[in-house]
Amino acid sequence: MKPWEDKIRRVVPYVPGEQPKGQGIIKLNTNENPYPPAPGVRKALEELRTEELRKYPDPTVKTLAGCLADYYKVEPDQVFVGVGSDDVLAMAFLAFFNSEKPILFPDISYSFYKVWAELFGIPYETAPLDEAFLIRPEDYYRENGGVIFPNPNAPTGLLMDLKQVEDVLAHNQDVIVIVDEAYIDFGGKSALELLEKYENLLVVQTFSKARSMAGMRIGFAVGSRELIRILQDVKYSFNSYTMNLPSLVLGVEAVRDDAYFRETIGRIVDTREKAKERLKRLGFSFPDSMSNFIFASHEKASASELFEALKGQGIYVRYFNQPRLENYLRITIGTDEEMEKLFSFLECYLKDMA
Ligand SMILES: *Cc1c(COP(=O)(O)O)cnc(C)c1O
Repeated sequence: MKPWEDKIRRVVPYVPGEQPKGQGIIKLNTNENPYPPAPGVRKALEELRTEELRKYPDPTVKTLAGCLADYYKVEPDQVFVGVGSDDVLAMAFLAFFNSEKPILFPDISYSFYKVWAELFGIPYETAPLDEAFLIRPEDYYRENGGVIFPNPNAPTGLLMDLKQVEDVLAHNQDVIVIVDEAYIDFGGKSALELLEKYENLLVVQTFSKARSMAGMRIGFAVGSRELIRILQDVKYSFNSYTMNLPSLVLGVEAVRDDAYFRETIGRIVDTREKAKERLKRLGFSFPDSMSNFIFASHEKASASELFEALKGQGIYVRYFNQPRLENYLRITIGTDEEMEKLFSFLECYLKDMA
């Protein structure tokens, strides 16, 4: 052992989905939006002057935060913006989870939660999802140092109704409760409306999924003024300029075009509902997703085998080699054409198997 080895922090990092490059690849593995960002985003990008990159961007992110505040009908000082919701969530872990008691989150959930807890030395316990992959609110009644869960959950796609979210909040008024709403725009009701009642609630959303801007890295949190101020203090103790200028400018354009936002979501939801029918006919079963992906298991073919077979065709889906998940594929909803290619391959493949 080298003398410095016991004095350094070692972490097991989160492993993101592959980002394969190449022609004809169908990428259904990281829940990106298959449609381009709003037309105004493209125009603003073309008009961006490199001269403006000479200066530091606005550390207070005033314009984008103000635009989000207007959109979600909250005050500008109730909005915190970060480099994707991963950045926002990491800062929220650092700021709000500072108890000796364990924080709680579901055992099957966004796997980054465990990574941040370990990175920051936050004690944690996981609460098992039930047989149907549902979060049980009662599991969060016990004493804890904070609570976090995605709604809809990933990788199951299952939505908790707002009554249940409020039930968790009502039982946890002494700690911070974070609801990670990365997929809420695909069919759920946001916990934003509970903010007036619970000042310990932080709602986190992202531009990466429904707003088609994973490449820009924009995420945000909405909460009480006090929570947002605390998050800002952490950010300014870390890096004042987390948000680059293009993200700030283009983010505003994405929020401005609500019609486009609604339209692309509508298309994805429509494709998702058709995909459910098709997958059922092919012998798949899955929790009833309210997100932009379906977590599906086949009655005969193993998920690992299907994953490899699909990859051989240039069709990338996500496979988690973990207990309880090892027979599922998480399939992002692509365009109708992309989904058609997936289904026609599966049709042939599964027929040959029979
Ligand atoms: C995608 C995702 C995020 C992170 O998204 P960013 O690209 O960092 O904004 C956070 N939570 C969940 C549950 C996600 O699926």
